Amino acid sequence: MSKVLALLVLFLAACRSVAAGSADGPHLLVLGVAQDGGHPQAGCEAACCADACEDPRLGHRVTCLALVDPERRRFWLVEATPDFPRQLRQVHELHPGFALAGIFITHAHIGHYAGLAHLGREVMGTPAVPVCARPRLARFLSSNGPWSQLVQLRNIELRELAANERVELAPGLAVTPFLVPHRDEFSETAGFRIDGPVRSALFVPDIDKWERWERDVRDAVRSVDLAFVDGTFFRDGELARDMREVPHPFVEETLRRFADAPAEERAKLVFLHLNHTNPLLDPNSTAARAVAAHGAHVARELDVFPLD
Ligand SMILES: [Zn+2]
Ligand SMILES: [Zn+2]
Repeated sequence: MSKVLALLVLFLAACRSVAAGSADGPHLLVLGVAQDGGHPQAGCEAACCADACEDPRLGHRVTCLALVDPERRRFWLVEATPDFPRQLRQVHELHPGFALAGIFITHAHIGHYAGLAHLGREVMGTPAVPVCARPRLARFLSSNGPWSQLVQLRNIELRELAANERVELAPGLAVTPFLVPHRDEFSETAGFRIDGPVRSALFVPDIDKWERWERDVRDAVRSVDLAFVDGTFFRDGELARDMREVPHPFVEETLRRFADAPAEERAKLVFLHLNHTNPLLDPNSTAARAVAAHGAHVARELDVFPLD
């Protein structure tokens, strides 16, 4: 390899260092990055979805992480999305024979829990997969069909999460739920802090606006090594309707909030939950370059974040 090429490879490796590392130890694996409707999105006739309809490789799965524990040959899913079948297969392709140890769910909007349907009698008929949810979400699932049938047939076993209470999954692996403001029609909305033996991550895919959260997002990001944050819309005006009906922090707003933060703090930001209209879905867009220029990141499927 020529010297120039070797340097280029090193440079590119450094650029992706946030996602570099081996998957031998406990790690987070990105299984999807799109908003609830996925990409392409039903009913969208615009170019953003036409291309992805024609070439499935340009499409994106709904936001989901796997928390993988190679030592004990098991994993947890964070969210059960409408893309659950392919996401489960993806984990098994990378980690054959690993057991699904449980599912953490943030809230009852379709992109986050509808995949539970595949655990039922019509499909997998799983034996008592632990589903960890806040109390209102747990009540919603146990008292509304078809989800209630999963509970009755013991395909899932609901485990109620108390806010800010750490759930120990294994030595050195824990998940701590916390509440965030969001459109809470059927459930409250949680975010998760995921702690590994060394590194930790925040997962906040859906939140109304940072200023409506009781916590300062800058403090929250400082307290972890990585922060998967709501990147639903890149900027105001992205939808042809009043965007106040579906409030999210625009990526531009988040970047402004972190504009004077130290580079290592901005480097912790990883945007996901991208709407089909979001130019960040295209890694070559001007928007994606703007995020990179701020030193922040956009989550991509199969990114791996070591926690050890
Ligand atoms: Zn969502
Ligand atoms: Zn939502």
